[in-house]
Amino acid sequence: MPYRIVLAPGDGIGPEVTAAAQRVIAATGIEIEWSERQIGAGAFETLGSPLPAETLEAIRAADATLKGPTATASGGGYRSVNVELRQKLQLYANYRPARSMPGIVSRYDNVDLIVVRENTEGLYSGLEHTVVPGVVESLRVITQVASERIARFAFDTARRQGRGRVTCVHKANILKLSDGLFLDTCRQVSEEFKDIAFDDCIVDAAAMKLVLDPKNFDVLVMENLFGDILSDLASGLVGGLGVTPSANIGAHGSVFEAVHGTAPDIAGKGLANPTAIILSGVLMLRYLGEKQAADRIEEAVRGVIGAAETVTGDLGGSAGTDEYTDAVIAAM
Ligand code: NAD
Repeated sequence: MPYRIVLAPGDGIGPEVTAAAQRVIAATGIEIEWSERQIGAGAFETLGSPLPAETLEAIRAADATLKGPTATASGGGYRSVNVELRQKLQLYANYRPARSMPGIVSRYDNVDLIVVRENTEGLYSGLEHTVVPGVVESLRVITQVASERIARFAFDTARRQGRGRVTCVHKANILKLSDGLFLDTCRQVSEEFKDIAFDDCIVDAAAMKLVLDPKNFDVLVMENLFGDILSDLASGLVGGLGVTPSANIGAHGSVFEAVHGTAPDIAGKGLANPTAIILSGVLMLRYLGEKQAADRIEEAVRGVIGAAETVTGDLGGSAGTDEYTDAVIAAM
């Protein structure tokens, strides 16, 4: 039986980079039945919603979804598609590996850590209101249920990957109730994983330690806003957003996507670097249990970027999206 995968190309460079990822995945020989669905600003224009009901249903029913970036206006306009998708499908775990890539100059070599971010609550619960003119309240929601499932996801991930330590990142010294609950819950879950060390770190200190020496960390678990910020910080440690994949895993679906946005400045020009979405496809194949195919793609990507001959402009090369993709397929 082929896997049933939804391809949601999204906006800007989304269609170019997702097509490249589709080509690379096809080259592994894994049987996939793709179904394409609209999402983002394009879907809003043609179907009247950035997250049409039929797209949501298809994602819910599929084995996994590969999603391109979607445009969101700051301030007014419709809600972020990503936030809505995560909440509607309860994609509660955001999984962001940060691993050094040969050939990409960054501050450190041999970084290999994972940020696990709670994806559905915290300050992103969407509970905001104006109290009186000039005063706005945004509510930060932390529940034991959500804290427990994200902690368990972090420990399961650590165990599956043979990693030694999970660090809970929090601000429980100030946010005593909400982050106190998050930290206590992580600590309780750690009791079930005696083979994995557990410690905790206050978020501001964690930011400093990550920059000073990322080898201080292995798997980090945190609530939504801290995870949003520190996962980008971790990506910066290994060469930026152009090569960073992510996974959103939940009870009713899984969505794999690059971390970067729609890159309107280069959209439609065939210049975009598809590495991040290709590596998101690698995470998807691992999630589906196709480890060998995933490893083949990842090694090919690392080889091509490491050789620095056929890389895109953002990495200092002159190859276009298609030329780079061809090189990755040739190296597989
Ligand atoms: P961006 O990531 O789109 O672009 C930032 C810079 O990085 C640009 O110069 C762009 O050309 C470059 N860049 C990004 N991805 C690249 C790639 N794959 N190859 C080569 N260069 C690349 O960030 P932005 O400009 O802040 O956001 C643009 C739009 O994307 C906004 O509407 C934003 O809301 C949206 N966005 C979506 C997602 C998502 O759907 N996951 C994530 C971030 C931003």
